[in-house]
Amino acid sequence: MTTALYPGGFDPITYGHLDIATRAAQVFDKLVIGVFATPQKNLLFNTEERVDMIQRAVAPTSNIRVEPFFGLTVDFARQLNAGVIVRGLRMSSDFEREFEMALMNKKLAPEIEVLCMMTSVQYQFLSSSILKEVAQLGGCIEDLVPEHVANALREKLSIMAFR
Ligand code: ADP
Repeated sequence: MTTALYPGGFDPITYGHLDIATRAAQVFDKLVIGVFATPQKNLLFNTEERVDMIQRAVAPTSNIRVEPFFGLTVDFARQLNAGVIVRGLRMSSDFEREFEMALMNKKLAPEIEVLCMMTSVQYQFLSSSILKEVAQLGGCIEDLVPEHVANALREKLSIMAFR
């Protein structure tokens, strides 16, 4: 049984993330989506909200589980007995950061492999940050995220507009 870990901030989950997760779930026996509970950047959604949105989105895929985690990704992978960390690559600008992180993770945990999957072409431009920008400016986000995520995003942004 091979378990893989797909870690990220997922603020919020997009169809680009879901594409990587569902494709990875076809390659590995089990996939755990690990949600950074202590990310470096300021996030729009708290950990519980991000986990909940992902859980709803991956509910149809039985071998995907969603869990928040603190600390190093490789420590969480070891806890799960995951031999593989999955990441997604959109464009060459992702490559440098992913390469750097993969080398550091290899140094910290030589027994864990990092596998990068290429984005599907229709999601090449899609990131959580650009999605939030578009949503904030009133653009259409319906074909970028599941409906419950689009609703949560609009609700969060309208609450913030009143602050
Ligand atoms: P980070 O860990 O940098 O906060 P995210 O949570 O945004 O990243 O994403 C987690 C992983 O999913 C990263 O490997 C990122 O490159 C990948 N990813 C994000 N959006 C897409 C997309 N549209 N297509 C493919 N991979 C993606």
